[in-house]
Amino acid sequence: MDKIEKPFIIPIFISHKGCPHRCSFCNQTAITGAEPDIPSSEAIRLMVSEFLSYKKEQRKTVQISFYGGNFLGLKENDIVSLLQEAARFTENGSVDSIRFSTRPDTIDNRRLDLIRGFPVSTIELGVQSMDDRVLAMARRGHTSADTEKAAALLKERDYSVGMQMMVGLPGDDEAIAMAAAHKIADLSPDFVRIYPTVVLADSLLARWYDSGKYAPMPLDECVTLVKRLYLFFRERKIPVIRMGLQASEDLLKEGSILAGPYHPAFGHLVHSEIFLDRASSVIESQNAPNETISISVHPRNISKMRGIRNRNIEILKNRFHISSIKVVSDVSLGEDELNIF
Ligand code: SF4
Repeated sequence: MDKIEKPFIIPIFISHKGCPHRCSFCNQTAITGAEPDIPSSEAIRLMVSEFLSYKKEQRKTVQISFYGGNFLGLKENDIVSLLQEAARFTENGSVDSIRFSTRPDTIDNRRLDLIRGFPVSTIELGVQSMDDRVLAMARRGHTSADTEKAAALLKERDYSVGMQMMVGLPGDDEAIAMAAAHKIADLSPDFVRIYPTVVLADSLLARWYDSGKYAPMPLDECVTLVKRLYLFFRERKIPVIRMGLQASEDLLKEGSILAGPYHPAFGHLVHSEIFLDRASSVIESQNAPNETISISVHPRNISKMRGIRNRNIEILKNRFHISSIKVVSDVSLGEDELNIF
């Protein structure tokens, strides 16, 4: 599968702005530290200029990204003035395009007509689930039909479409999450993000957690489920550009996350488990594995093969009674390959 080029993103938070209400799991203030407010023109200019000064030469595509709220749920004049401000930077050539995240039920022809003419290339939909019961319990206020309709309208207008999916919401389970992934893949998004549900302070979910009404997924179960989803999307040739919440200072502040499968390197845990599975199946296929083995992988995958704190190596040693395992790099191997000798 082709790797999609990672753009240099200039994030502009519009924390909870445009949200019709609070979804049960959400607290953007805990995630981003930004108080609900629409940034002024001057603030946008300062933020963009500051970020551009950090950009390294080799980063080709630059995008201004509005997120943390419901972009197309903003008042029309706010949508237009934010886009006008961002477009100044595309006009002077320092930024290539604009992206934003929005709820599926904000996608309609009227709003898409409003943003036509602005250099918006990518729209991310907060899909979260394709199960209407899970969506209702998350207090999303939209259904899977809204997502299907939104995807069709965005594709008609040639936007690059991202879909954000959550796992471990109230009422969700592995079968429901896999079924949701199938429905998402059938909508042919250009990329997907997968977020485990964590209990954020001051959210409705936090109240349900305190009262015992909601129990988050354990981290190891969640990693295994996200691994299945990742492998499924990969089979369908849909890039998964993020797994797990982005670690930010605010998120890591004590008291922001009350419970749930949060790990600062969640994606790494998923990739490590994939390498563990691969190595296990190769060793299993050897009738009598040697007592001492070497595993070669592409240099970029050494730490994924080892796992965090050498966890994979310890598991393989115990599982197959191997006394010594070396992990060596081999540039001739592909990203997904490993050799055992
Ligand atoms: S999930 Fe999205 S729509 Fe819901 S409250 Fe959070 S930012 Fe708003």
